[in-house]
Amino acid sequence: MSKVLDRIYALSPVWIQQLGVGAYGWYWARRRLGGVFDETWRAYVDREGWPPDRFHDFVEEQLRVQVLRAYREVAYYRAAFREHGISEELLNRFHLEDLPRLPLLEKSTVRSDPNVLLTKSVAKTPPPAFSTSGTTGTPIRVYLDSKAHQHNIAVREARSFRWAGVSVRDSRSMIGGRLVVPKAQSQPPFWRYNHWEKQVYFSAFHISPANVPDYVSALNRFQPAVMTGYASANFFLARIIDELGYQVHAPRAIITSSERLEPPMRGTLDSVFRTRAYEEYGSIENCAIATECEKGRLHTHPDFGIMEILRPDGQPTAPGELGEIVVTGFANVQQIFIRYRIGDLAAWATAPCPCGRNSLPVIGELVGRQEDTVVGPDGRETVRFHGLFVDLPGVAEGQVVQEALDRLVINVVPTPNFSRVDKETIQARVIARLGSAVSVEIRELAGIPREPNGKFRAVISRVQRRPAARTPHGHPA
Ligand SMILES: [Zn+2]
Repeated sequence: MSKVLDRIYALSPVWIQQLGVGAYGWYWARRRLGGVFDETWRAYVDREGWPPDRFHDFVEEQLRVQVLRAYREVAYYRAAFREHGISEELLNRFHLEDLPRLPLLEKSTVRSDPNVLLTKSVAKTPPPAFSTSGTTGTPIRVYLDSKAHQHNIAVREARSFRWAGVSVRDSRSMIGGRLVVPKAQSQPPFWRYNHWEKQVYFSAFHISPANVPDYVSALNRFQPAVMTGYASANFFLARIIDELGYQVHAPRAIITSSERLEPPMRGTLDSVFRTRAYEEYGSIENCAIATECEKGRLHTHPDFGIMEILRPDGQPTAPGELGEIVVTGFANVQQIFIRYRIGDLAAWATAPCPCGRNSLPVIGELVGRQEDTVVGPDGRETVRFHGLFVDLPGVAEGQVVQEALDRLVINVVPTPNFSRVDKETIQARVIARLGSAVSVEIRELAGIPREPNGKFRAVISRVQRRPAARTPHGHPA
């Protein structure tokens, strides 16, 4: 929605907002699930059963077509490829093994000129744009025509929703970044219903013990087949429902996105909603996606976009070794992302998944955004902080803020049970991860503010990072 429409929406009474959500929903239902949507998701389902050689050749062909398109139609890539000694002739016989020869694409390049990746055929009249939430720095502008949009939903239908036993056409609940309920509103309802998509959209900004009865009654009324949206918001909702002992509808599945779904969160979601939670990893740039199969592993989808995981020197990581995710997308043929440094960290799995989908490589560990990790005392090592607040019933919400290499602030929203033992446990756990040279201050807060997009940031580091992966002259160093 445009800024003006957003403002009108915020000032309107609830019934007008409901109409607005309805009209918006009608438009989106047509745009998302029409056109090439059906044929595309069926093709994704079909490819899952292909022999490895056939799948490999298909992915290689996608890549060849995309790099050639980039060279011929995007001035930026033509110049960057040439600078790295890549000719059109090489691109014509491009193989998957050649991908590391192409230069990396920096976020700063896309930020400084949002149109830099557009093909010349759409440069003058670009398709509709979306912006990344931009919790750090200028947002990235992502252009998406309806075909690319349908393609993005199609891969999720085939490889995320279908694996979870549901469909994007099923009724669903959503907790996400859209400001469906103005932040200042203190009276229910804290949701809006979109009839066309059978979707109840909840506010991510109003989840609290006082407001949760309204969320529960909407879930019980609309009975969504699948609950979707932010991992943290769905988890906080589940925990309050559990604490207050409400009877709540059980969906067939929960699919969380946009944030890490940590094991304790998963456990709470599964037990409160008497179902199974699945994790989905993606980004608004829509270059690559990872989705969870029935065996609980996170598969990537090279036929949608290739994911590489690189060391700081640009070499690929070994299985189990943490590195930076770099993505090359195929679905968007108007704004082209090739070897894009998306800013997330992950490691490949050390063993194949028992589900047998071996053409879809498995991520063993997903750490998330680099700035969502704490820098180790040597200034480079990334330290994972999941588990810091596990089994601490005195902590309703916890957040780690690294102010300096040797200084951490732990923000805690305490429950009445919060005690000195909890504080000491937190201190001890931080020292176990970072050593005793780090000072730890625990602050008790009434609430931890959400990001402007409603996300909850569990870890924030204000420490400047060392420069990371580069491929000088197109060849890994
Ligand atoms: Zn699997």
